[in-house]
Amino acid sequence: MSSTPAYIFGIDIGATKVALCIASTNCEILANTSVPQGSYEQVRAGMKAEGERILKELNLTPADIAACGICAPGPLDMENGIIRKSPNMVWGDTAICHDVQQMFGFSKVYLENDANAGVLVELYFGSAKGLKDVIYLTMSTGVGGGIIANGKLLTGKTGIAGELGHVILDVNGPLCGCGQLGCLEAYCGGKNVALRLQDKLRYRPNHAMYSLPGVAGKLENLNFQAVREGAKLGIPLAVEMWDEICFRLAQGIGIYMTTFNPEMIILGTAAYRARENGLDMLPTVMSYLPRFAWKEFRDACTVCITNLKDIGAMAGAASAIYGLGDPDKKTVWN
Ligand SMILES: [Zn+2]
Repeated sequence: MSSTPAYIFGIDIGATKVALCIASTNCEILANTSVPQGSYEQVRAGMKAEGERILKELNLTPADIAACGICAPGPLDMENGIIRKSPNMVWGDTAICHDVQQMFGFSKVYLENDANAGVLVELYFGSAKGLKDVIYLTMSTGVGGGIIANGKLLTGKTGIAGELGHVILDVNGPLCGCGQLGCLEAYCGGKNVALRLQDKLRYRPNHAMYSLPGVAGKLENLNFQAVREGAKLGIPLAVEMWDEICFRLAQGIGIYMTTFNPEMIILGTAAYRARENGLDMLPTVMSYLPRFAWKEFRDACTVCITNLKDIGAMAGAASAIYGLGDPDKKTVWN
């Protein structure tokens, strides 16, 4: 269609689906679609069929694509473009970058982990447009983060910088999935919150929390969402737990502010859903923040909740746009 490639192709590998999109290099999403998760062969065939369909829909060929970005949950082998096998993925140890490049013939393919891609999505499509020092904190099953410092994604020596969920807030705190005690994730991560709530109520079947609509009397339904709903109704146990989540989050934010002096910290996923469901955690978090960060840090930084419902749809595209500005990034996979 055009003489110089002016489009971006994005692929986001998620736990339940693989999202595909085409965007302009001006960060406008022009088409998107998704294929359900399944075996790697099924996903590969689905990506090819849907990818070719949306290219055709926009009257484009792979030659019009300046770069393709692939975003995937870790652990990733960034050197070889491989998604490693992990508990959250049905498949793994696959050379995704090589396969996508071969399949479509894209000249450049970039790989990024989903936490880093989250901050890039905010930078190009969300609240952080034009900013240079930004932190994005995703809170779902676990807690992850991405850090942009002076316009650059912070990767660290071995590419694992930004594990913001695993800063330790209390050496005597609850056990985290990572094996340490008292990580922020152990206080605020969905999985850990559910485990803690279930431990408290295992032998109290008459507790008010069991009567919440989403719980329906079942221990296994006592999760993060139940804490949120219970807090909204003023059930003391849930109010106390919700308050602790906000307190620990403020503690973490204070550490991030003091370490990175960011101009914006964006809370994703659970904070977004809580606000959507009528419980904004921001006022409570902000009320605790003065205990954890100097005024100078707080004054310099806007703490906010993402305005994007589905970060994943844009994660691959954001990774490609960032990649195009970084000549050191690997683009060809053999
Ligand atoms: Zn941890």
